[in-house]
Amino acid sequence: MPELGQPAIVRIERLSKYFGVGVARVDALVDINMEVYPGQVVGLMGPSGSGKTTFLNCIACILQPSSGRITLDGETVYDDHWLKADLRRLRLDKIGFIFQYPNLLPFLDAADNVAVVLQLAGFSSSAALARAVELLDYLEVGHRKHAMPAQLSGGEGQRVAIARALANRPRIILADEPTAPLDSQRARIVMDLLRRIAVEQDAAIICVTHDEMILDRFDHIFRLRDGKLEMSPARIVGAQSLGARPSP
Ligand code: ADP
Ligand code: MG
Repeated sequence: MPELGQPAIVRIERLSKYFGVGVARVDALVDINMEVYPGQVVGLMGPSGSGKTTFLNCIACILQPSSGRITLDGETVYDDHWLKADLRRLRLDKIGFIFQYPNLLPFLDAADNVAVVLQLAGFSSSAALARAVELLDYLEVGHRKHAMPAQLSGGEGQRVAIARALANRPRIILADEPTAPLDSQRARIVMDLLRRIAVEQDAAIICVTHDEMILDRFDHIFRLRDGKLEMSPARIVGAQSLGARPSP
């Protein structure tokens, strides 16, 4: 999509991943190509077992692909092998991950759940806490900063989890069914929030979903089937929502 005028933040080329060997081999991803641009929120759909989580885990540098190339924010990080020695640092610098359930640490309050990531990234504890509260305010759950995870509603917990994923200002946000536990109204609110984050932070968001009710919230829908990617003709929506103009 060169009409968007900026380089892709996520560029995936011929990415494959298999598990096991011989008759036990499972081809979880087969020759995937994908580009995601700043400000875009793309959906990833597909039946259970089609490779969605495997794909996100490869992009997040959590799982080693079998072959192909991954370029994140202009830097090729995998080209048939990892090109970076410190994958943990890479994840901290570039990636935010949002899971289906908030996975908050039950013994820390909302603010500390976010601050702990910032401390891992090298912030002092007071600076981490200040930025955590700022992020919770941004996600409109600042008033819940002292609440323990068990006291938060589903939507509040997911916002805290999103704040945690944003803590390191990632340009790439990967979300594995973040709206699954939410009703459709709250799901739409979370999707609108992801959209705002993508635009305001110039980030690319890849979001796995099964939810037909929120499909209009995506710039594109990519569909995986048996590890292979099909692209639906939904991309025109993205061009409009990004304000792309016809070439003069
Ligand atoms: P989805 O998230 O779309 O449900 P997954 O990415 O979890 O699909 O799985 C894709 C395929 O890879 C499935 O056939 C699954 O059984 C297989 N798979 C995933 N993880 C592993 C693993 N660690 N070891 C072996 N097979 C796996
Ligand atoms: Mg999955």
